[in-house]
Amino acid sequence: MKIYNTLTNKKEEFVPHKKNLVRMYVCGPTVYDLIHIGNARPMIVFDSFRRYLEFLGYEVIYVSNFTDIDDKIIKKAIDTNSTQKEVSNKYIEECKMDMKNMNIKEATFTPYATDEIKDMILFISELIDLGFAYKVSDGTVYFDTSKVSDYGKLSKKNIDDLKSGFREITVTGSLSKKNYTDFVLWKPKKENEPYYDSPFCEGRPGWHTECCVMAPKYCGGALDIHAGGEDLIFPHHENEIAQFEAVFKEPFSKYWMHNAFLNINNEKMSKSLGNFFTVRDILNKFDGNIFRLFMLSTHYRVMLNFSFDLMESAKKSFERIENCILNIEFLIKKLGNRVENFYNDDELFENKLEFYEYINDVLSANSDLNSDEIDIINKIKNYVDIYFDKLDDDFNTADAITQIYEIVKIVNQTANEKSNLLFLLFCFEVIGTLLGILGIKISIKNNIDVEIESLIEERNIARKNKDFKRADEIRNLLIEQGIELEDTRQGVKWKRIK
Ligand SMILES: [Zn+2]
Repeated sequence: MKIYNTLTNKKEEFVPHKKNLVRMYVCGPTVYDLIHIGNARPMIVFDSFRRYLEFLGYEVIYVSNFTDIDDKIIKKAIDTNSTQKEVSNKYIEECKMDMKNMNIKEATFTPYATDEIKDMILFISELIDLGFAYKVSDGTVYFDTSKVSDYGKLSKKNIDDLKSGFREITVTGSLSKKNYTDFVLWKPKKENEPYYDSPFCEGRPGWHTECCVMAPKYCGGALDIHAGGEDLIFPHHENEIAQFEAVFKEPFSKYWMHNAFLNINNEKMSKSLGNFFTVRDILNKFDGNIFRLFMLSTHYRVMLNFSFDLMESAKKSFERIENCILNIEFLIKKLGNRVENFYNDDELFENKLEFYEYINDVLSANSDLNSDEIDIINKIKNYVDIYFDKLDDDFNTADAITQIYEIVKIVNQTANEKSNLLFLLFCFEVIGTLLGILGIKISIKNNIDVEIESLIEERNIARKNKDFKRADEIRNLLIEQGIELEDTRQGVKWKRIK
C-alpha cells in the first residue's frame, strides 16, 4: 500500500516500524462548541483509514486527543458564566455523540490535555535545559526555532520570508520573542483564567506541546502515522516536529497524512458568511451513513465541496445501494433463508485474507451455481480487486466507492427469483463488506423487526375483536417467516425458530 507523506511530498510504500502494528495519532478538536463539518472530515477519513488498516490485518493503536484548555474555551466559560471544565466536558460529550452518529470507532486512547499538564511541564523544562527554549520577563516560555536547522521541513515554508515579515512586526515593539517563528510553550495566567503552578510561572501550556507528550505516552512507541487536517501543517505540526525532535532526537512520525479543506458551495466556510454548519445540523437532516458516503466520495487530499444539493445526491446514491441490499435480502428470505445483519462491525469478515478465502470458496462451489452466475461472480471479483487497488493507492476512497456502484449495477441486472441462494448470499456479503470497510452500514434487522412488530400488533387487535381467524392467520404467517409467538402474562413475546 502506498500513502502520500506530506513530509517527503511523495507517495511512499507504507511500512510501519513493527510488522503487524500501526501506531497512529490524529490531532483532535478543541472543545468549545459543537464540532463543525470541517472537523468531521479528518474524523471520518482517518477512522476509515484505520478500519482499512485493521482489515488488512494490522493491530492499530489509534490515539486522538481532546484539547480541553484554550483561549476559546476560556472565553466561552466567561461568556456563559461557567468554568473551563464545564464548557469542555459539555462539548466533549456532544462531540462523542456526533462521532457515534457518524460511526466513528472509539479511539484506543482519548487523552485530555488538562490531564497531561505535569508531563508537559517536564517536557518544557527539558527543552529549556537543552537550550531549545527561553523564558522572557513576563514568564512566557518560547521555543527558539533558530536552534532547529531544518525548521519548516514539513510545511516547506520559506523561513527567510517569515523572518522579513517579522522585522516589520518588531518595529511595532509588540513582540518579546527572538524570532518571528518562535512559538509559545507556556503562557502566564491572566485574571479570571484557570492556571497551573510551574517552575516558569503560574499559567498554562500553549497548544503545540500537548501532542508531543501524549503521542509517545499513549501510542507506546515511535509513531507510524501522524494525521490531521491540512490547516494543521503550519504551524501546529511543524512546531510539534521541532519540539519532539529537539527532545527525542528521532523523527516524530514516519508518515504525515493531511486531508484537504472543505468548502461550502465553493466558498470558505465562515460564520460571517452565514454558511457555517455544525455536524449536528447535517445529522438532523441526513443519516450519518449518508454523510460518511458523501465525505468519502472525494479523495481525502482533494478539496471537498459541501452543499445540500450534493448531500441530496449522496442520499440518492446511498438509497440505490440500500435498495439493492434490501432486494437481495428479500430474495434470500423468499428462499427460506435468513442473513445475519452486518450492521455491527463484528459481523464483517475479520480481514482481507478471510474475505478472499470466502470469494474463492464460492467460486469453487460450482455445483450450486449456474454458468451465468459464475461469470457474474468473476466480474464482481474483478471490481473487488480494483476496489482494493484503489484503497492501496493513497487511500483513494472515491474510486473505491465507484466499484461498489458498479457491483450494485450488475447485481440489480442479474439477481432475481431464479437466482441460486449461494449467488444471492455472495452479492449480499460482498456489498456489505466493501461498505463496512469504510464504516458505512446498511441495516436490514430494523426492517424485519418493524414488520414483525406491526404484525403482532395487528394480531393483538384481531384477538381483542375476537377475530380469531385473522389472529391464527397472522400466527401462521409469522411461523412461515421463522418467528414463533408465545402469549405470556406480560404480553406477546417472539423468537426466531430458524
Ligand atoms: Zn496535535
